[in-house]
Amino acid sequence: KLQPTGTIWMDGEFVPWDQAQVHVLTPSLHYGWGVYEGIRAYPTAEGPAVFRLREHLERLHDSARVYLMDPGFTVDQLTEAALELLRRVGLDSAYLRPIVYLGYGTMGVAPQLDSARVAIAAWPWGSYLGEKAEQEGCRLTVSSWQRNGIHSVPPLAKATGAYVNSALAKVAAIRAGYDDALLLTPTGHVAEASAANVFAVRDSVLVTPPVSDNILPGITRQSLITLARDFGLTVEERSLTRGELYVADEAFLTGTATEVVPVASVDDRPMGAGGCGPVTKQLREAFTDVVHGRNPTYRHWLEYA
Ligand code: PMP
Repeated sequence: KLQPTGTIWMDGEFVPWDQAQVHVLTPSLHYGWGVYEGIRAYPTAEGPAVFRLREHLERLHDSARVYLMDPGFTVDQLTEAALELLRRVGLDSAYLRPIVYLGYGTMGVAPQLDSARVAIAAWPWGSYLGEKAEQEGCRLTVSSWQRNGIHSVPPLAKATGAYVNSALAKVAAIRAGYDDALLLTPTGHVAEASAANVFAVRDSVLVTPPVSDNILPGITRQSLITLARDFGLTVEERSLTRGELYVADEAFLTGTATEVVPVASVDDRPMGAGGCGPVTKQLREAFTDVVHGRNPTYRHWLEYA
């Protein structure tokens, strides 16, 4: 359940949480025409810091471009707004949710695109897949729902409406007793989980699907690729089959809300290395150190509030 944090930034102003309302006839609600981001702030020795804030806000701008919207605020302005919001809500650990959506005014499938509005909210958000999944690994199943494809809904834009695809897959997976779903491309390659990217590890080589396999190009994914290569590991960005995941030594999911979570099994086939394998463990610990400001090499990934 959402925990109110006092204030939400809306179009340049801080609005009391309960008054941060939009009209029921906003076209974004009816047609899903909106773009958003998910960003995390972590406590560090020097106070709260936001992980890769600029990259997330640049992706927000990219998503807005795909959907022909002008957010009306530059990346620099949104950066300052997000940091000021974090200071005002007084949290050192938070999830930030910027959203660009269409204001009230017209109705119809071709929305009026010059009415874009922007909001940023922040609230505490703990473990996304749950403590058990974090410790023992999550149980995944391949979904019968295909991942949104380049001919239908551009997977690289983080659009609100696109998430009915993720939600259908995730809800079905949970009802079938799994923690999350893996969605495939039309050619049967693994794209990603409902809201996280996936990596397979075999013989210490990491494989993760490329952008051309309908993934959202995750910022956590990119960070993990960098960390793994800096550790001297080989990372291949190439198409991955479901079968390769069945026979992997390890696999893990990456995402802002998810963070780095080991995969325990895919379609009931346990990973070769069991719960959290050694490569996953090493990378997860490294990621945790980085986001908490304990690794000066990656200090440039943190934006201190
Ligand atoms: N894929 C999807 C569909 C997602 O929703 C997310 C979460 N934003 C990710 C991947 C992971 O992206 P990131 O690491 O940038 O949060």
